[in-house]
Amino acid sequence: MSFVYSAPGVTRDADVRPKNILVTGGAGFLGSHLCDLLVARGHKVYCVDNFHTGSGANVAGLEATNRFRLVDHDVQLVLPEDLPRFDEIYNFACPASPPHYQSDPVRTAMVNALGAWNVLRRAEADGARVFHASTSEVYGDPEVHPQPESYYGNVNPVGPRSCYDEGKRFAETLFTDYARTHGIVVKMVRIFNTYGPRMRPDDGRVVSNFIVQALRNEPLTIYGDGAQTRSFCYVTDLLRGVDLLMQSGGEVEGPVNLGNPAEIPVGELAAMVIDMVGSRSKIVRLPLPINDPKRRRPDISRAMDLLGWQPEVDLKRGLEKTIEYFADRLPKDMPTEGV
Ligand code: NAD
Ligand code: UDP
Repeated sequence: MSFVYSAPGVTRDADVRPKNILVTGGAGFLGSHLCDLLVARGHKVYCVDNFHTGSGANVAGLEATNRFRLVDHDVQLVLPEDLPRFDEIYNFACPASPPHYQSDPVRTAMVNALGAWNVLRRAEADGARVFHASTSEVYGDPEVHPQPESYYGNVNPVGPRSCYDEGKRFAETLFTDYARTHGIVVKMVRIFNTYGPRMRPDDGRVVSNFIVQALRNEPLTIYGDGAQTRSFCYVTDLLRGVDLLMQSGGEVEGPVNLGNPAEIPVGELAAMVIDMVGSRSKIVRLPLPINDPKRRRPDISRAMDLLGWQPEVDLKRGLEKTIEYFADRLPKDMPTEGV
């Protein structure tokens, strides 16, 4: 499957000076698409990953180029000495799916804290511009709807989601204060639920779960009554926004929401997936996880004003591409373990 990135206003392959770029978490879902984009543009990309939720298979196609190196390393530790000086660093290392980040919550909190600290020290030493992948989870279970960047959020500091939510909030603080006090350039996005090819079949997030279940004609697992909403962004739209933000000038400071404002209840998503797959699946209801946000939709005014960014791929089109990806890989009647 090939992906076409078009970022209006961003210089294209032939125009850019090749840079040394570090992508932490580059073997994961979003990070691997970012590596594709940067290598295609002619840069030399160093992907640092410990394969906790990522996979070498996601970047296997890049290893044949001489512009990509995969480094097995845990970002909780100081970055390896033998890497070159970086022009840019993108910090994506952190499990993103609730079952994965909750499986070892102490590690999740520490990856956020120590990963940020190690990336920032390296960025300062190298004079690198640094990007941080934050999340809509900093808004918790929001009481303001849709969520603008100015909203401080409603987060439980001691619940099962806190390792991720508070870890990401702490990382935002560290990135912001480090930039203020050490004079480095930091660009930060709050990513709202993003989906697409290269999510793991056992990722546990709703889009991949529903598609895999529908392809296998197994019941779709709706947590709670399915009235809770999310707003789903396709991966290429997200990456175009990330790219625009990283290329933006000094006028763009502070976190920027990136997500698709089209909001849908989880129950409707289930019906849509069953219909699109042509599946015989039924619905099964399971308990709603503790502190599961009831509504989520990004206010993307800031991204529109500052970057001229808005999503282009609607949910139906994005789901078609994602279903195609999973259908190519999953035998239809495979056993259900792992999902
Ligand atoms: P993912 O789980 O596919 O990718 C995370 C990557 O980080 C994996 O390759 C994993 O192996 C790696 N990693 C985890 N811990 C590490 C460690 N200690 N050292 C080195 N590598 C480590 O998830 P994703 O959806 O691609 O998310 C990537 C980033 O984007 C995460 O920081 C996540 O919080 C953020 N984000 C994603 C979404 C989304 O909807 N996809 C939403 C908000 C934020
Ligand atoms: N969800 C669901 N069934 C699943 C997986 C998730 O109903 O098999 C729900 C989940 O409870 C939440 C929404 O779908 O309300 C989005 O969950 P996901 O894990 O994808 O993302 P997050 O909760 O982090 O936004």
